[in-house]
Amino acid sequence: MAKMYYEKDCDINYLDGKKITIIGYGSQGHAHAMNLKDSGCDVCVGLREGSKNWANAEKAGLAVKTVAEAAKWGDIVMILINDEVQADVYKKDIAPNLSAGNMLMFAHGFNIHFKQIVPPAGVDVSMIAPKGPGHTVRSQYVAGKGVPCLIAVEQNATGDAYKLALAYAAGIGGARGGVMETTFQDETETDLFGEQAVLCGGVVELMKLGFETLVEAGYAPENAYFECIHEMKLIIDLINKGGVAMMNYSISDTAEYGEYVSGPRILPYEETKKNMKAVLTDIQDGVFAGRWIAENKNGRTFFNAKRAQLAKHQMEIVGAELRKNMLWGDDTDPDTASN
Ligand code: NAD
Ligand code: MG
Repeated sequence: MAKMYYEKDCDINYLDGKKITIIGYGSQGHAHAMNLKDSGCDVCVGLREGSKNWANAEKAGLAVKTVAEAAKWGDIVMILINDEVQADVYKKDIAPNLSAGNMLMFAHGFNIHFKQIVPPAGVDVSMIAPKGPGHTVRSQYVAGKGVPCLIAVEQNATGDAYKLALAYAAGIGGARGGVMETTFQDETETDLFGEQAVLCGGVVELMKLGFETLVEAGYAPENAYFECIHEMKLIIDLINKGGVAMMNYSISDTAEYGEYVSGPRILPYEETKKNMKAVLTDIQDGVFAGRWIAENKNGRTFFNAKRAQLAKHQMEIVGAELRKNMLWGDDTDPDTASN
């Protein structure tokens, strides 16, 4: 069993007198900065000069500095910018401004685990990774609740890294939901695997193929969209609430029988497992990370082509049209990242 920490295990007072810098003001950044400020912490946000978020953060009552100034100011520096730009920003503006005894923090382990960022030995390195989108981290906190988090410590130079990271988790409200101990390696590998094999890669491919199969057989695209895409959320909501058992309770016995008979035909057990293991191996030995880092260095040709191609897929075009008139499908939260 993974070790869990709750509010009683986290002493937010360890943050007293600590200056906390949040680099970035996106999904996670705005939530961490505002929650910590509301928890009574001394917070500042580090942004690029000319960033459109500068005014937003100031409007929220937060102090804002350039990334370099903010990194210098902070005792604790949480990096909440896009993973693929972190290494460059770290080298240029953060590393030169870190002092021994500071704590460098992350909400995802990619850059530390794949050694894109190699912090100096005298610095604590920890992770508090909320298991939900940033806007939920904020809304739950405001509601007196909290999104559960993962905690990991990669370097404990001061010996205080755990209690400081737990205090940080309390500050953003995560300790109300529970903080689960892990490692940078496990967080990185399981996060990448989940989004690739199941949540994003697997699910999108499944919906797309289902949609295409019905349309190619002559059924209306709108009908295919409802059956293979729209209803996905309704089904997932049931599983999320009460497991597969609740979904099976809620669907017809015909649907449940079809689940047992046809599921394994669509995803043949041995073959799918073999493919999933291959995806996991590429993640574990750094092949995936190497490709993604190279893709970013080479102008994202493959990535951009795929994104453009998907935007033109009939399921996206039909879906956009249908959703305009769907009074029950008004979930417009843009913050739907996979983490
Ligand atoms: P985001 O894309 O919402 O925000 C990133 C912010 O960084 C933006 O405001 C952007 O303007 C800024 N930025 C980009 N390049 C910059 C640069 N060169 N200098 C300064 N600022 C720059 O990102 P996010 O989803 O909040 O992700 C932040 C971190 O949190 C990542 O490590 C991610 O893996 C992790 N995370 C995200 C989620 C999630 O659900 N979104 C959940 C858990 C962990
Ligand atoms: Mg993720």
